[in-house]
Amino acid sequence: MKENSIRETSLEHAGRNPVLDVDSVRKDFPIFTQAVRGERLVFLDSAASAQKPLQVIQSISECYESQYANVHRGVYWLSEKATEAFDASREKIGAFLNSPSSSEIVFVRGATEGINLVASSYGGTFLQPGDEVVISHMEHHSNIVPWQILRDQKGIVLKVAPIRDDGSIDLEVFGNILSSKTKFVSITHVANALGTVVPVKEICDMAHSAGARVLIDGCQAVPHCEVDVQKLGCDFYVFSGHKLYGPSGIGVLYAKEELLHQMPPYQGGGDMIESVTFERTSYADPPQRFEAGTPNISGAIGLGAAVDYVRSIGLDKIAAHEADVLGYATECLSGRNDIRIIGTAANKASVLSFMIEGVHPHDVGTILDQEGIAVRTGHHCAQPVMDRFGVPSTTRASLGMYNGRDDIDALIGGLERVKELFN
Ligand code: PLP
Repeated sequence: MKENSIRETSLEHAGRNPVLDVDSVRKDFPIFTQAVRGERLVFLDSAASAQKPLQVIQSISECYESQYANVHRGVYWLSEKATEAFDASREKIGAFLNSPSSSEIVFVRGATEGINLVASSYGGTFLQPGDEVVISHMEHHSNIVPWQILRDQKGIVLKVAPIRDDGSIDLEVFGNILSSKTKFVSITHVANALGTVVPVKEICDMAHSAGARVLIDGCQAVPHCEVDVQKLGCDFYVFSGHKLYGPSGIGVLYAKEELLHQMPPYQGGGDMIESVTFERTSYADPPQRFEAGTPNISGAIGLGAAVDYVRSIGLDKIAAHEADVLGYATECLSGRNDIRIIGTAANKASVLSFMIEGVHPHDVGTILDQEGIAVRTGHHCAQPVMDRFGVPSTTRASLGMYNGRDDIDALIGGLERVKELFN
């Protein structure tokens, strides 16, 4: 066990070379210009939702100021401008995921809606009673509940791949769960409550060998590492725009074109049809088939701007920078009797979940808030993960590209105060 204080541990790390100029990145995010409770804002809750750069904010204002009209409908100049911007955003997102075609990019409200769409449309059509769907023990509720709904509606069997004590997946154990009955695997790329990076390429290969389709929940991955859906070979990939520095209420479902063509609509309405009579309706081709009603126009445009922004900084740099800050934070909190880190897998991204002995996470969060430090406390919509580790909730610090070691120093100083108050 380390004898020194948390503060001393953190100071040992001062003076390392940063791979990203955090000060200049922060200047892009207007939220950091304001003080919170008289203190500098230390935002350590990007896994819940990331802050927005000016480039995204401006793209949304511009949309409403100079190019706003409904899309895909009007023959007039303004509607054409809006449609162009909306469609351009789909192209950008397709390129961001290295999707073979932008028609494989479906705009949804977020990852939650993307997973529900797949469970309902693909699962409801192609899965039969007794077919097995495999998820893991570290899923967000949004990758559990839609499959439970399908189980109750269709009689599929839901299987849960266990996780090790460090929060990682044992691929051998995972492989033993797969069989000819497995028709679908739905798994997170990075676990939101633990930070575990899941070997999704290997999982796709194993699932495909068993004859199953694979959905990857990329919510906590796309802001932190490059994702190439062709290299992964996944059938479906979902993420939410608001965690990628984009607006809320917009997200993406990537799906292989052949699958989208086979899938029935998830919702009916305007914009998803080819022709309608009272007797019969024929549907538009994907992706429009899955985008009933007026879409989130400014959200899609804002998400395109977020993708541009992230690419301009470079995901390789972001990943290296965040790995450095996460490593620093982990080292500062490791090996102490009074702190238990939940999720200690070798390959992690962005997330540090922990418990302080004798202090409820909500108290930790409230005390840190007095110093302008925003962390998440609770079960992080991953109650089975909390059960697995025998805790009701954790304090979670999660990183974005704008976090530096100074934020970790602030967190550690705040945790010293928490300890002082509870001693
Ligand atoms: N999946 C993971 C791994 C998440 O972390 C989250 C949100 O925290 C979701 C899914 C749900 O995202 P949303 O609420 O944006 O649909």
